Amino acid sequence: MTIKEIFDTMDYGPAPESAAEALQWIADRDGNAGHYIGGKWGPIRDDFPTNNPATGDKLAGVTKGTAEEIETAVAAARKAQPAWAKSGHKRARVLYAIARLMQKHARLLAVMESLDNGKPIRESRDIDVPLAIRHFYHHAGFAQLMDSELPEREPLGVCGQIIPWNFPLLMLAWKIAPALAMGNTVVLKPAEYTPMTAMIFAEICAQAGVPPGVVNIVTGDGDTGAALVNADVDKIAFTGSTEVGRKIREATAGSGKALSLELGGKSPYIVFEDADIDSAVEGLVDAIWFNQGQVCCAGSRLLVQEGIAEAFYAKLKSRMDGLRIGDPLDKCIDIGAIVDPAQLDQISKMVSANTEGETYQTKAPEGCFYPPTLITGLSPASTLMQEEIFGPVLAATTFRTPAEAVQIANNTRYGLAASVWSENINLALDIAPKLAAGIVWINGTNMMDAAAGFGGVRESGFGREGGWEGLAGYTRAKGTTKALKPIAPYTTKDGTPADPLDRTAKLYIGGKQARPDGGYSKPVYSPKGKLLGDVSVANRKDLRNAVEAMNGAKSWAKTTGHLRAQILYYIAENLSARSEELAKRIKDMTGKSGQDEVDYCIGTLFTFAAWADKYDGQAHGVPIRGVALAMKEPVGNMTVFCDDGWPLLGMISPMAAAMAMGNRITLVASEPFPLMIAEMYQLLETSDVPGGVVNILTGDHSELAPHAAAHMDIDAVWSFSGADISAVIEKGSAGNLKRTWVNYGKQIEPSATDMLAAATEVKNIWIPYGE
Ligand code: NDP
Repeated sequence: MTIKEIFDTMDYGPAPESAAEALQWIADRDGNAGHYIGGKWGPIRDDFPTNNPATGDKLAGVTKGTAEEIETAVAAARKAQPAWAKSGHKRARVLYAIARLMQKHARLLAVMESLDNGKPIRESRDIDVPLAIRHFYHHAGFAQLMDSELPEREPLGVCGQIIPWNFPLLMLAWKIAPALAMGNTVVLKPAEYTPMTAMIFAEICAQAGVPPGVVNIVTGDGDTGAALVNADVDKIAFTGSTEVGRKIREATAGSGKALSLELGGKSPYIVFEDADIDSAVEGLVDAIWFNQGQVCCAGSRLLVQEGIAEAFYAKLKSRMDGLRIGDPLDKCIDIGAIVDPAQLDQISKMVSANTEGETYQTKAPEGCFYPPTLITGLSPASTLMQEEIFGPVLAATTFRTPAEAVQIANNTRYGLAASVWSENINLALDIAPKLAAGIVWINGTNMMDAAAGFGGVRESGFGREGGWEGLAGYTRAKGTTKALKPIAPYTTKDGTPADPLDRTAKLYIGGKQARPDGGYSKPVYSPKGKLLGDVSVANRKDLRNAVEAMNGAKSWAKTTGHLRAQILYYIAENLSARSEELAKRIKDMTGKSGQDEVDYCIGTLFTFAAWADKYDGQAHGVPIRGVALAMKEPVGNMTVFCDDGWPLLGMISPMAAAMAMGNRITLVASEPFPLMIAEMYQLLETSDVPGGVVNILTGDHSELAPHAAAHMDIDAVWSFSGADISAVIEKGSAGNLKRTWVNYGKQIEPSATDMLAAATEVKNIWIPYGE
């Protein structure tokens, strides 16, 4: 036998990990899993089983949490929160102790995770558990630094957290560590298929000195999750399907509960012809076969440059043939069991329903296993290229040019992650900013770390987990907010014009004055009842036209911060030159001196002009030979319902923040004092603002709000309006999961950096170094 033959025929012997300790751990607890509330265990019942998917054997009985049990847990968290929030240093010590104890019990956690979820022990031992531990260490540091580095922020209070089954312990860590670090207390619901490592974690909390009530775990199913969403919590943090994420967005609309959603994805894996092909093939093993493809950021859409496609597929198939699939507790196994027969059924059905392209599948053992699958020759619009399969199935297509690669990559409703493979770093770094994704990996995949934010855009949800950017989701600006007093427009009895000249202000769309589609206008009176002029009443068609105009101005996002600053300074200069006239106009409408407001507007424009080229991203120190660049990108098309009480500032302030960061914006002017629109478009026309970057509508906020919220081409809606539209906006936003920032009827006075943060998305671009 030649050495080559020996190598070719060599096989792996079994290297089984023992399940004995983990099974004994369960037996010692009477074979059941259940709630940990207020530092105590119980109630614990055998309401439904959690099984080992690799064998189908029951692992433990699980308690299905009721609404009352959720309430008890929330009450315990509420009681514990004020004391927990007091000392960052004490929190740091406790988080550090959790990390140490997790390290001590790392093997038990890893084995339990593989038993409960079916993932290979190699992954739970080397990835899930170490990353979870790292999260607690890293956030112990954030707890320590909160007072000095985030002096303007305070905890939200009680956070309800709902996690999925694909990374049970890791998702628990991603949720609990930042919440605790920032002084919140939590009620966490693990997934019904995989509650076991959360049970070990609860015991670790007790040992680590977590005060009773700070961490509460309530097991259960979707109903238990829904009860948590409806409970008296200050935030819901959710990871799971886009469908349930949408339901939660609707259920929490108008409640004032903070929300972060980390949802599904259909992440592109782009291979250029100059890529290191062997590395790119090996990367795919991680991208789509890691955790049996049950990964929200799985590189499930392969886009290969046409010239290398056949050779690439051939290498990929040969690598697939070498993947070992079977017992998750065998250390030689690459691919374990699918989490549950229901999920297996879903994957099988989706693949069998496909009639396009060519399917290549390797073999899988009997039971809850699915073979690694490659489907080539799919069109970008085919179901398997568009829908999340959440299994070990790779859908592939080809592209010709970099521009086409970007186009196909972005042809999805999701926007979680993307991989770009090319040995030409210039090309890779040119593509990365063009991809609609929260995370981009250059020549790599599935790189994650506590120091770098993780999260998506579009229907992959909003909010980040990890890094400085992740802390924002667990804090709010300090200070109390007052209820907003609605301002009624002035009316008249006689209707005598204050000025005999006709002053009917049109709408401002795409850099031009536009008559309203409906052909209606309404009068605006002074406090003394004199007619000041008429404004147009915009309807949903005018809003649509404004969106078209914003779409036409997308190149604004590519301008430099320096240029945007120049234009904002120019607006300030023009505003300053007309300061008296504008102040008088404000006075005519409101009866109050407008000079302070005009001066404040000039200052605001200067502030955002200053920030335009200084609101920098970060280079995160992640533990790889490389860097994760946290780049700040514009959110996109924004619509803002302006503060009623400030006819000019209400428009200038969000406009300047949005423009500074490269967004396009449609302002809906103050409802009682809308006449300022005429001054605004004169200002914009004389200040080199490109058409479509800023559009202004006047009209009824309540009428326009549902249309803005539901529009699929608007990426963010803000409301500082006195109209009661917060709930309508949040509910309507569930359609494309756009970002919302609403006032819930309160007077909010955001800082410049709060506004800049809301006007940007952080994209983490991972760039490994080395040959
Ligand atoms: P879900 O979104 O249903 O589950 C995620 C979590 O939410 C679980 O804890 C679940 O409980 C809970 N939940 C379910 N319904 C509600 C509700 N109405 N209100 C509040 N909480 C609720 O995902 P599934 O586990 O059902 O998986 C379905 C599909 O979702 C997968 O096939 C996959 O495509 C996708 N998915 C995406 C994930 C991601 O990370 N992006 C993670 C998991 C799934 P319970 O476990 O009892 O259902």
